[in-house]
Amino acid sequence: MGAPPITLSPGGGFLLEPTGSVTIFTPEMLTDEQRMMKETADDFVLGEVMPRVAEIEAKKPGLMRELLQKAGGVGLLGHDVPEAYGGLGGDKTSSSLITEAASRQGSYAVSFGAHVGIGTMPLVHFGTPAQREKYLPKLASGEMIAAYALTEPGSGSDALAAKTKAVKSADGKSWKLTGSKLYITNAGFADLFTIFAKVDGEQFTAFLVERGAPGLTIGPEEHKLGIRGSSTCPLFLEDCTIPIENVLGTIGQGHKIAFNVLNIGRWKLGIGAVGGAKYCLELGIKFARERKQFGKPISDFDLIRKKIGDIATQTFVAESMAFRTAGLLDARAATIDPNDPQVQKKQVDAIEEHSIEASIIKVFGSEILHATADETLQIFGGAGYIEDYPIERVSRDARINRIFEGTNEINRLLVPGTMLKRALTGRLALMKLVGEVQQELADPIKIDRRVPDGPLGRERKKCDFAKRAIAYAASLGVQKYMQQISEKQELLGVLADALILTFGMDSAISRTLQLIAAKGEAGSQIPLYMTQLFVANAHERVFEMLREMLMWMSQDEEWGREVRDINTYYSLDRVNTFSLRRKIARHVIEAGGYAL
Ligand SMILES: Cc1cc2nc3c(=O)[nH]c(=O)nc-3n(C[C@H](O)[C@H](O)[C@H](O)COP(=O)(O)OP(=O)(O)OC[C@H]3O[C@@H](n4cnc5c(N)ncnc54)[C@H](O)[C@@H]3O)c2cc1C
Repeated sequence: MGAPPITLSPGGGFLLEPTGSVTIFTPEMLTDEQRMMKETADDFVLGEVMPRVAEIEAKKPGLMRELLQKAGGVGLLGHDVPEAYGGLGGDKTSSSLITEAASRQGSYAVSFGAHVGIGTMPLVHFGTPAQREKYLPKLASGEMIAAYALTEPGSGSDALAAKTKAVKSADGKSWKLTGSKLYITNAGFADLFTIFAKVDGEQFTAFLVERGAPGLTIGPEEHKLGIRGSSTCPLFLEDCTIPIENVLGTIGQGHKIAFNVLNIGRWKLGIGAVGGAKYCLELGIKFARERKQFGKPISDFDLIRKKIGDIATQTFVAESMAFRTAGLLDARAATIDPNDPQVQKKQVDAIEEHSIEASIIKVFGSEILHATADETLQIFGGAGYIEDYPIERVSRDARINRIFEGTNEINRLLVPGTMLKRALTGRLALMKLVGEVQQELADPIKIDRRVPDGPLGRERKKCDFAKRAIAYAASLGVQKYMQQISEKQELLGVLADALILTFGMDSAISRTLQLIAAKGEAGSQIPLYMTQLFVANAHERVFEMLREMLMWMSQDEEWGREVRDINTYYSLDRVNTFSLRRKIARHVIEAGGYAL
């Protein structure tokens, strides 16, 4: 499949590019082949998974494995596995569509995601030909199910502090692993585990461990708040003996596997959140149209419409961010020669390039899904709290997304942390933007305040100015704290939130401009309203947060000047957000769900 005609921006490049100046990948650009994959995935989930929700949630023995095997039968497990190893060698955009379809049912989505993502991807990207040959065809078909074991009782976010130890046996023919792992998805029935342990207690390394390995015990199922139909167990390793060739990747380089696999997981989790939010919207609208109070459907009440308008808008923004990134991953992958002996390394580098976007999408997606599920439950009123209605399960299931694949706190630290690291090493031209901002602020009269011609001119200007304000605030932080900035978590948290909202504004604006170019303004009204609504609110929040950050980090005398500088880029415009939200709500209520 050829690369879509998009701009191959560097990771984090959105902060530096003038808003609307690049072509991004959008769901409107899906090829026929990608649409067919979406149909296959949707049909599978609607036909095989959704009718069995009650049995899944009751953890019917053997059911999840059976469903995963069936998914393998229609090609859904092997999509990301190379063709040479029994998979489809498919693109990331189709992979996103498969993930989105799965997200209607949280337990299935998590089991499926753990198998195809963190379970299988370590082998795809780091396995030797022999390891890939041995396991990948079976993982692609569903004959074997995979799990990934990084977390331990004493090390979750601080994953490299793992205590599980690996030592070579006296005859040099095997490894012996000792320690324990916690909260391992699919552990109840998985056949193959990627387990992280430290060789001689020092070198962090990944190992392939089969279920029957002597010394491996799978602990009992955890009882969870949500995703109750998924399996989550501890692992106990007591001199667990595996063949010497079962090291995955290089000894001492396990962190590369652990973190790069999580990068894929984070972006996929964001895509899953988009699917989950669309499902909530569908449930909420159906209920709101049917439920009558005070003589009319509750969908007629403005406070219910407000919720629906906000949910649809946030879903649109998350979808724009996630598919933009999927397109970038595909475009980057298309530049790699499949016969290049370095192909695995180059694929990993391509994924790492967009680790900033992956963390952004993970945080934004999981938080809008959580809020969406909660607001949808509110639309259901008392019924939302009762098990007979699906939103009860969905709202419990949504909660986990803020915790795994790196907690949202850890991902928030990663967003500005990675950005600043790349800026300081010259990999990202942030210092150039900072230089321009400093020049502008020295003579603010000269700042170009003209709103660009054409649609969304005001929004483009607001997003451009938000980018400049962030660059300014970040540069003040770096000047003040130098190396210690990595310890200033509240400051990094503000920068993360400002960057997340800015990536959202930038992605929604670019997508809508592309839609307008293709279909005209009349054919793009709803995306236009959604973009105007999101930018109006996000712009306010970015400036509010940056001012708060200055209050915290500045001395009295400099604070006034710095706030004035930030405000130089702030524009107070009258945007009738109430009316935008109502129009969006009316449209999606009439459509019965997410629709542009
Ligand atoms: C249902 C479920 C399935 C899971 N599946 C898997 C799996 O398949 N494989 C696997 O390896 N793991 C899995 N996990 C584990 C999961 O990834 C961890 O729970 C997660 O990484 C957080 O680690 P922790 O629970 O030890 O929390 P901690 O790391 O102890 O964190 C506790 C709190 O402190 C915060 N915190 C920690 N460090 C910092 C810091 N430096 N700065 C600011 N705040 C910080 C966290 O954000 C969090 O809010 C799963 C967990 C659950 C619940």
